[in-house]
Amino acid sequence: MLFIGVQERAVMENSRLEGRILERGREFFRHIGDEKPSIFNKNWWTGKVMDASMANEPFKVQLFRFIDVLPYLTTEETLGRHLEEYFAKDENVPAVLKWGIKTTGIGGRLGMKLLGKTVRKNIENMALQFIVGGTVPETVKNLKKLREQGFAFTLDVLGETTVSEKEADEYVECYLRLLEGLQEAQQDWPALGGGDSGFDWGHAPQVNVSVKPSALYSQAHPADFEGSVGHILERLKPLCRKVVELGGFLCIDTEMRKYKEIIFELYRRLRSDAEFKDYPHLGLAVQVYLKESDKDVNALLDWSRQQRLPISIRLVKGAYWDYELVLARQNGWPVPTYTIKAQTDAAFERGVDKILQNHDTCHLACASHNVRSCCYVMEKARELKVPDDRYEFQVLFGMAEPFRKALLKMTNRVRLYCPQGKLLAGMAYLIRRLLENTSNESFLRQTFTEGRQLERLLESPPTNLERLAAEGKDKSPLAEITLASKSGFTNEPFVDYTNVGVRQSFYEAITEVKKQLGKTYSLHIKGKDVSTADIIDSVNPAQPNQVIGRVCQAGREQVQDAITASKEAFQTWRDTPPRQRTQYLFKAAEVARRRKYELCAWQVLEAGKQWNQAYNDVAEAIDFLEYYAREMIALAEPRKMGRVPGEDNRYFYQPKGLAAVIAPWNFPLAISCGMCAAAIVTGNCVIYKPSHQTPVVGHTLLQLFIEAGLPVGVFNYVPGRGSVMGDFLVDHPDLALIAFTGSMEVGLRIIERAGRTPPNQSSVKKVIAEMGGKNAVIIDDDADLDEAVPQIIDSAFGYQGQKCSACSRVIVLDTIYDRFLKRLLDAARSVKIGPAEDPSNFMGPVIDASARKIIYEYIKLAGREGKIVYTCEVPEVGYYVPITIVEGIMPQHRLAQEEIFGPVLSVMRVQDFKQALDWANSTRFALTGAIFSRSPEHLQLARQEFRVGNLYFNRGSTGAIVERQPFGGFKMSGVGSKAGGPDYLLQFMDPRTVTENTMRRGLVPVDEIAP
Ligand SMILES: Cc1cc2nc3c(=O)[nH]c(=O)nc-3n(C[C@H](O)[C@H](O)[C@H](O)COP(=O)(O)OP(=O)(O)OC[C@H]3O[C@@H](n4cnc5c(N)ncnc54)[C@H](O)[C@@H]3O)c2cc1C
Repeated sequence: MLFIGVQERAVMENSRLEGRILERGREFFRHIGDEKPSIFNKNWWTGKVMDASMANEPFKVQLFRFIDVLPYLTTEETLGRHLEEYFAKDENVPAVLKWGIKTTGIGGRLGMKLLGKTVRKNIENMALQFIVGGTVPETVKNLKKLREQGFAFTLDVLGETTVSEKEADEYVECYLRLLEGLQEAQQDWPALGGGDSGFDWGHAPQVNVSVKPSALYSQAHPADFEGSVGHILERLKPLCRKVVELGGFLCIDTEMRKYKEIIFELYRRLRSDAEFKDYPHLGLAVQVYLKESDKDVNALLDWSRQQRLPISIRLVKGAYWDYELVLARQNGWPVPTYTIKAQTDAAFERGVDKILQNHDTCHLACASHNVRSCCYVMEKARELKVPDDRYEFQVLFGMAEPFRKALLKMTNRVRLYCPQGKLLAGMAYLIRRLLENTSNESFLRQTFTEGRQLERLLESPPTNLERLAAEGKDKSPLAEITLASKSGFTNEPFVDYTNVGVRQSFYEAITEVKKQLGKTYSLHIKGKDVSTADIIDSVNPAQPNQVIGRVCQAGREQVQDAITASKEAFQTWRDTPPRQRTQYLFKAAEVARRRKYELCAWQVLEAGKQWNQAYNDVAEAIDFLEYYAREMIALAEPRKMGRVPGEDNRYFYQPKGLAAVIAPWNFPLAISCGMCAAAIVTGNCVIYKPSHQTPVVGHTLLQLFIEAGLPVGVFNYVPGRGSVMGDFLVDHPDLALIAFTGSMEVGLRIIERAGRTPPNQSSVKKVIAEMGGKNAVIIDDDADLDEAVPQIIDSAFGYQGQKCSACSRVIVLDTIYDRFLKRLLDAARSVKIGPAEDPSNFMGPVIDASARKIIYEYIKLAGREGKIVYTCEVPEVGYYVPITIVEGIMPQHRLAQEEIFGPVLSVMRVQDFKQALDWANSTRFALTGAIFSRSPEHLQLARQEFRVGNLYFNRGSTGAIVERQPFGGFKMSGVGSKAGGPDYLLQFMDPRTVTENTMRRGLVPVDEIAP
């Protein structure tokens, strides 16, 4: 009875609360009246365009993309061209834009000029609507006006995308200049709400700034958690000092989820720093669309109590919803956000409850444009008797004028979040706001353009959720759609460094592996370890006196033994049912997953791979195992060919025989594993020669296959010196196939030797050779440099440029050249170089002394053929070479033609896009390429004319993913089908056809003549 009583009371209280919220909501809407936010006001260009974009999704995408590129369209010609490319061809483009295009006539220069001018002006005005001022004096003037209307403010400096430390310093400078201006101005501002305390509403500092922390350290990355927190804090402290000096408030904004834990830790360190401990006006934002938000709020409140440090939380739903969802799906992570809007609304109210219940230690800033969410705060605060000075309301400047006015009337404590700064940076902000305003789920859209029923708008989130469930609308297709291909294949998830457990696993694995260094590794032939007297030391390239392993080297005798063993094993293996063969690959994948961090650690130490590079390599190895196994299942069934009656034709495959796999050191597990797995699953037996620079990682592949229980002799581990056993292996008459990945010189040599056929050889040797590249990335005149610069740094210098897919030529259009180069050089100056085991180092050592020597020779050549514009200091111990950026290189230069395999980048200036394509295609290689462009026509042209195996638009040239981007090139980049693609396995087999005449004296099996 008592239990029912408690429950009933709760229900009654809840319904009383809901009743009061409804009343409040009605009052709110009465205050709003018929007024519309200017963004939705159809009397204006913006309102019309917004209306059209909400009615027409493809137009919305084009429009927002056009807005995104607009600041880069600095000439009449580019503006006109883009307008035409984006809008002229679409029949559905609303009259608001098309009118101008049609009547002026695309060809008419004058018309185009006029149209371009009008569209630019209108879009710039649209952006300016959200920006409080471009300069400090303008900002101060406009803030004064807002304060006169009764609004407080928090300022945010636009341009948070900093790609270099210089830009991060400049960003801090902007804040400091702004704070100087505000310090002076605030002397003359009367406090809001009257009184002479000098505080708004009697308690709140007048100057309030919001800071995006990732902008304060260009190299911030969750893998380097400590480094990121430390560096951001270094730049945040002077800002905070200034804020304290003028008695202001500082709020740390929350950004993408990858920075969340960094930001929380940053806040805790700042708030508890001896210098700021006694200063209460420091806050941070918490995003409730994250499923972890309840935990986040609780943790912050607990911390506040434990430390006896009052805190302030700005509760927001979160501005990166679409981004987080897409990113999680692309990376194979669980979706971190709620996927039903009402779930986020409910989390918001739970967060409000929790903070208001703890109002003695936590101040609440309710940041929302949702009437229901704000009314909930008002009524909940009343119910809990929370004093006014413990909560306030915040809205975005320019977002919802009638809403903010009504909110002010009802609460008297409204703060506007005011971005300030340059229009260029403002465009990215504008897109975020437009996306938010035009999303189907947006409260503002539902209120002001769809006129949704008031009761519905004010409905409690749990009721809303129940209703959606009853209507079957509580599922999000984007979040739930299965990503597995028909065969059931999905890529191994990428590493999520936000997870402290992942970071810990890396450290632990490296420590563990270090305990195992220096062991001796034997060959493995016919299921047995075989030692030889010839042993080489494999060393850590960052610390050459550290021996990773001592590896026995095969001579001709051992190669012959391995071939004999493979021949024997082949008799059984080739007739082992393909499905059974696939099981070994699936098992090996399982083992690799279990030993993932250990496998990474070996690569970090033996190959000098950074954490994420090593992880990607291991994940790719797992992908190859899973993908090829599934592909084999599809290929295993004999296919019936033709449909004529009386004849049965079956098409099927058999393995070629013995395969030599000659692997490189740069993807020491992934490429080895890919080539071996393909050969094994198709029924061949393998003689595997790992690279002499990474034989210990090669041995880990052997361990995977042993643990998977692969039958004896199917896989033989035969490391050896190329000079001793290389030709013997390649020339061996019993080999049917050679799978090779490595340099062009060695590849061509193998192809040539494999083409010689001695009389005792029974089949023509097949060679699959992936050889190299001289890959170009084109920077078009409208490229987004915020994206392009970091991606070029990554493609050119990631893993020290030692990838066949690495960018070694960046071809830049003249009009953007100087801007690009300046930012590229600043970004290059910002990266840290050192041992790969320290996650704060972006770049490490090259693989060995001989590689270093060759790269240094190319650096000398760079100085002769062009002008070196950037080089840097490198650690003394280890095989390091500096990042080298060289200008003035022409297509005929050796630097533009030869693969260097190191961090040397040529920057080449071209006059137009056509020339860029010509130069990109001007080498003997055709492996990868990329373009940063926002011109649909240029991208279309490149699809056709940029002739490489893997072409990427608006992303870097490295990082192909199994199945999604089958990898491999042509010309001198290699022969054979793409790895990780649907044709790859076919190369390891011979097709056969068996035809049976099924008609005997006119009698034909019934099923053959059935329709
Ligand atoms: C003063 C102020 C400061 C801000 N600071 C930050 C900040 O530091 N960091 C930050 O990320 N954002 C910040 N924002 C932006 C804020 O996150 C968005 O403006 C806010 O999410 C919009 O919510 P709303 O209540 O106004 O509108 P509503 O229309 O009620 O909510 C829209 C929000 O719901 C969520 N949503 C939309 N669709 C779904 C779905 N299908 N499933 C689940 N959830 C969904 C998204 O978060 C979306 O933004 C700030 C906003 C203000 C006003």
